[in-house]
Amino acid sequence: MKFSDQTKPSIVDQIILNTNYNLNQRHEWQLEEVEHLFSLPFNDLVFKAAQIHRANFDANEVQISTLLSIKTGSCPENCKYCPQSAHYNTGLEKESLMAIDKILEAANEAKNSGASRFCMGAAWRSLHDRDVENICEIVKEVRKTGLETCMTLGMLTKTQSEKLKEAGLDYYNHNIDSSEEFYSEIISTRNFQDRLDTLKNVRDSGLNVCSGGIVGMGESLQDRAKMLIVLANLPKHPESVPINMLVKVKGTPLENVKDLDQFDFIRTIAVARIMMPKSVVRLSAGREEMNEQTQALCFLAGANSIFYGDKLLTTNNPEAQKDQELFVKLGINKK
Ligand code: SF4
Repeated sequence: MKFSDQTKPSIVDQIILNTNYNLNQRHEWQLEEVEHLFSLPFNDLVFKAAQIHRANFDANEVQISTLLSIKTGSCPENCKYCPQSAHYNTGLEKESLMAIDKILEAANEAKNSGASRFCMGAAWRSLHDRDVENICEIVKEVRKTGLETCMTLGMLTKTQSEKLKEAGLDYYNHNIDSSEEFYSEIISTRNFQDRLDTLKNVRDSGLNVCSGGIVGMGESLQDRAKMLIVLANLPKHPESVPINMLVKVKGTPLENVKDLDQFDFIRTIAVARIMMPKSVVRLSAGREEMNEQTQALCFLAGANSIFYGDKLLTTNNPEAQKDQELFVKLGINKK
C-alpha cells in the first residue's frame, strides 16, 4: 500500500493505517484528501469503508424508508434531472396535494411491508405559509402509525422548520445535488446558497437533516468530492445521506447523459461512509439500473438504507419482493 510523502501521516494515511479513531467530528475535509480517498485502489477503499461501517453500525442491517409523492409535477424549478419540473415535457401525470386519508393508506401499507420511515415529497419550489397547517396535520397523523416521518417540500424558512418540528416531523430532506460549481449547470432557478440556507434553518429548528446528492449527471470526480466535502463540513453531519444515481428520464435535458461507471458510484458510497462515519448512507434512486452484485458492493462499502417499494416519487424502484429476495441472499436484516 502506498502512502503520501509527508513526514506527518495525512488524514488518508491515518485512515488507511487505522490509527485515526476520531473521525466522527471531522468537519475540515480538504479537497486533496478526498480526491486521495477516491483514487485509492478499489479494494483498499471498500475495505476501509467497510471497517468504518462495522465500527459504527450493524453491518448486516439496512434501514428501510418508503417514499410517496404527495404533490406531483408542475414544479416551477428547472432541475435538469427531474421529470416533475414544469420546464420539461415528460408526460408525467400531475396531481395536486393528496388527501390525508390516501396518504395514511400508503403509510400503513409501507409499515406493513417493513418500512420504518415514511418520506413524503411535494414538488414545490418552497413551502407556502398557506400549506403549513395542512402539512403539519399530515405529519401528526402519519406519526400515529408509529412510522418515523420525513418530508421534502423545497425551501423552508426558519419559522416553517420550527412548525414542522413542533408537529413531530423527524427528518427533513433537502439535497445539495452536486458541487457548488456544477450546481448552476443543473439548476438555474435557485442557487447553491439557497440550499445551504434551508439546511441551516432545518438544523437550527432541531429536525434531523437528510441531505445528499446525485451522481452520474456528467459531473467530474472533483465535483463528487466537493459535494461530499460540503456535506461533511457542515457544523453537524446530516443524519441521513442519500446518494442517488441519476435516473435518465425521457424528456429531461439529462436523458442522454453518458452512463456512470458503477464502480464510480460504489466509490462515492465508500467515500461518503468514511467521511461521515455515523450517518446513515442511503442507496437511493437508480437501484433499478443496478444489478444485485452492485447493490451488494454498495452495502459492503457502507450503504445502510434504501428506499423500498415500487415507486420513487415518480421513477421506478425495484419491487419490494426483489429487495426482500436480495436481503435473504445477503443475510441482511431490515431495520
Ligand atoms: S427536483 Fe424538486 S425542486 Fe427540482 S424540479 Fe424536481 S420537484 Fe422541483
